Amino acid sequence: MTTSRPIRVHIAPAAIRANYRLAKSLASGARAWAVIKADAYGHGQWRAVEALREVADGFAVLECENAVALRQAGISQPILLLEGIFSADDVPAVIEHRLTTVVHCLEQVEWLRRAAGDGQPLSLCLKLNTGMNRLGFTADTLASALGILRQLPQVELTLMTHFAEADGERGIDWQLARFHELAGDWRGAVSLANSAAILRYPQTHGDWVRPGIMLYGASPFAEQSAADLGLRPAMTLASRLIGVQEIAAGERVGYGGTFTASRQMRIGIVACGYADGYPRQAPSGTPLAVGGCRTGTVGRVSMDMLACDITDIAAATIGSPVTLWGEGAGGTVAADEVAAAAGTIAYELFCAIAPRVPVEIGER
Ligand SMILES: *Cc1c(COP(=O)(O)O)cnc(C)c1O
Repeated sequence: MTTSRPIRVHIAPAAIRANYRLAKSLASGARAWAVIKADAYGHGQWRAVEALREVADGFAVLECENAVALRQAGISQPILLLEGIFSADDVPAVIEHRLTTVVHCLEQVEWLRRAAGDGQPLSLCLKLNTGMNRLGFTADTLASALGILRQLPQVELTLMTHFAEADGERGIDWQLARFHELAGDWRGAVSLANSAAILRYPQTHGDWVRPGIMLYGASPFAEQSAADLGLRPAMTLASRLIGVQEIAAGERVGYGGTFTASRQMRIGIVACGYADGYPRQAPSGTPLAVGGCRTGTVGRVSMDMLACDITDIAAATIGSPVTLWGEGAGGTVAADEVAAAAGTIAYELFCAIAPRVPVEIGER
């Protein structure tokens, strides 16, 4: 539903495509699963698929049903189930639709073995637990898994793992060492790198990389901006001023009166609140842009509105364009900056966009 209420989320397919191409150029020897889980990190699975249909080597999702829907929509590239199958009931779809599936536990091995013993081809990514300690085989279980899977007539195996701190100080060397220890003399395909590892650790690129957040134009690193990495924002959250208040020094703004004006101020009221997906925990001073000028929020974010300081933006008035994050008529603000101010990450901001926010496609 489009609305006269002015909030919009703009999705730029060209940015998603450019970011995918950047991932590919960084990991030039590898193929790349475009990670489109969580409705393409809030950008819309189908929008991301349309943006990448002609360029992606493969797509990675969570739900078997989603993978089948992609096949039914004519996607012929490999499709990866990132958490594998959730029960034996998923196996017929995996076989019928040639889905590549992560295998991270012996239960999954058993479900696949029973159904695939009769010569059906299977493409599997065997996940090793190298320190994330969520999913994957360890030294105790890997040999049994490999023993069973190698008995199956037509299995294509890739070894994979997932990095816990590729964006942080501890890096990936320790996990890479555990991976090589577990993999032994493995000569087959490997898939290791998420966005952070693609950008920072060429030695992890292997045969398939798995870019997620970078496709959407946010940085996986706290200390390095998306723009510095050459990424283009794919999502802009934009709105307009719907109110202006002139307040005297000593006046407070918003619920709880958490902000007190230290001077006479002009306050702009933006049609955007936590029910639109803007983070309620964003404190006073969280960056946004109004009429081409950057400023900060003041007071608490409410359900449908937030307030900002327009004292020094003389031209700002009702109807002035506001950019909450992204690149819009209101100005430019990186989602990562908003996330940092609010104590979260751009991943969460993107995924939290509420269904009530109308979506527009294309560059503005
Ligand atoms: C989500 C996910 C990715 C993508 O991670 P980003 O940090 O968004 O690049 C890669 N691999 C796996 C297994 C994932 O679940």
